[in-house]
Amino acid sequence: MPPHPAPQRYSARVSVVGEDTPIRRTLPHRDRRMVGAWCFLDHAGPVQFGPGKGLHVGAHPHIGLQTFTWMIEGEVMHRDSLGYEQVVRPGQVNLMTAGRGIAHSEDSVQDGGRLHAAQLWIALPESERHREPAFCNYPDLPVLRQDGFTATVLAGTALGQTAPTVVYSPMVGIDLSCTGAARTSLALDTAYEYCVLVLRGAARVAGEAIEQEELLYFAPGRDSLEIATDGEAQLLLLGGKPFGEDILLWWNFVARTQEDMAQALADWNASPNQGGRFGSVRPGSVSAPLSAPSLDGVVLKAQR
Ligand code: MN
Repeated sequence: MPPHPAPQRYSARVSVVGEDTPIRRTLPHRDRRMVGAWCFLDHAGPVQFGPGKGLHVGAHPHIGLQTFTWMIEGEVMHRDSLGYEQVVRPGQVNLMTAGRGIAHSEDSVQDGGRLHAAQLWIALPESERHREPAFCNYPDLPVLRQDGFTATVLAGTALGQTAPTVVYSPMVGIDLSCTGAARTSLALDTAYEYCVLVLRGAARVAGEAIEQEELLYFAPGRDSLEIATDGEAQLLLLGGKPFGEDILLWWNFVARTQEDMAQALADWNASPNQGGRFGSVRPGSVSAPLSAPSLDGVVLKAQR
């Protein structure tokens, strides 16, 4: 018997966000909705925008989750309905806690530049999902070196360091980068499930080759993970205690019932970005507010 079940492999869905930002979406996947509390994983870019082009996402609301932006290349301006206006730069995280409701916009600071980022969502547990909205930029995250890798602790505790990012479930996020061939073994929490995404290059994780179009998933029970590369590479390792609550995910919302979801959609569409439940995003975005897609005829399926 092998000591662990084989990792599972999930393919990214490729799409375009805004005008021309290529996105590889690996969570949610039909067969893997969440990894711990991580419930959404978009890998944006890397892209070199043409003249006058950039990422521009107009005002839109969120509930029941945290948006977690990990910036690798480029600069994006976040504006929200609490009044925050904050650029996120390479090596930084912007973390917005939607709680009961918030709205924000995202715009490239300079058009015609580069963009490479991971946009993650974290589902809030039942006890926290109605909390007051909040926003924080984290310019300084713990950075460590191990066996040729540079590890940045994005969330939770890893390699003896705890990230300052405030999250509400037992979870971890680590960026691993190397400039040449490298091999290391990372200690894992046996109570956590994990996934690995390649942001640049390619790697072997627990002996399995992995490239940029896929997510490799590891069930709980492992106490270490071997990671190796033949050259320059960058990986994202995410993990957490299995969430244990069914959630509904639709558009930009995480809820628990179809009625909650329909109400949030109606509340936004009644007066998009004009006060009300979600307030008004600090002005400055070049894009119009987004419209919530109708739930008519859609029966949301619980996922975990
Ligand atoms: Mn958003």
